[in-house]
Amino acid sequence: MTSPELIQKLEETIENIPDFPIPGIQFKDISPIFLDAKLYETVIEQFVRFSKGKVDAVCGIESRGYLFGIAIAVALEVPFILIRKAGKLPPPVISEKYDLEYGSAIIETREGQIKPGQRILIHDDLLATGGTTEAAAKLVEKQGATVSQFSFLIGLKGLNGEEKLNKFNAEVYHILEY
Ligand code: AMP
Repeated sequence: MTSPELIQKLEETIENIPDFPIPGIQFKDISPIFLDAKLYETVIEQFVRFSKGKVDAVCGIESRGYLFGIAIAVALEVPFILIRKAGKLPPPVISEKYDLEYGSAIIETREGQIKPGQRILIHDDLLATGGTTEAAAKLVEKQGATVSQFSFLIGLKGLNGEEKLNKFNAEVYHILEY
C-alpha cells in the first residue's frame, strides 16, 4: 500500500510537460525527485516492500529504469541486469525485436547475466503502451527465467499497457497512476 502522503508528495514533485517531445504527449518529468534525497529513499523503500523475498534479480529498462532499479536491487541484495537498446552492449547479447507505432526496435541483455529459473522483477519508471516492457519480459523468458513482478513509478491509464502484461501472470505494481 502506498501512503496518501507519498502519492501527494510525488504528484507535487513530478512535472507534467505538455506537448513534449511531440504534440499530444503529456511528458512526466521525474527528475525533480532526485533533488530530494529523502523522497527518493521513500520511493525505493516502497518498491523494496513490494518485491522483498519475491525475486532473484532485477532487470531495469534503459534508461530511466536504472534510476530506481539499481537501488532496488542493492536493497534486495540481488543482481541488477541492464536491458539496453540495440548496439549499446558488447557481444554476446540476447535480443528481442518489437513493434513501435512506426517501425520497430530491438532491446538486448548480455548473454548469461539472467540465469535459467530465476524469478525476475522488471522495472521501469513509467508504463505507457507496454510495448517496451512486454519485449523485456519476452527477453527474460527467452533465457529460461520467469517474470514474477513488474514495477513502475507511474502507470498511464487508457493506453492498455497492463493488458499487454497479463499473459506473463506476474504481479504489476505502480506507485502513481495518471
Ligand atoms: P511504452 O513502451 O509505451 O510503455 O513506453 C514506456 C517508456 O517510454 C518508458 O521507459 C518511459 O520512460 C517512456 N515514456 C512513455 N510515455 C511517457 C510520458 N508520457 N512521460 C514520460 N516518459 C514516457
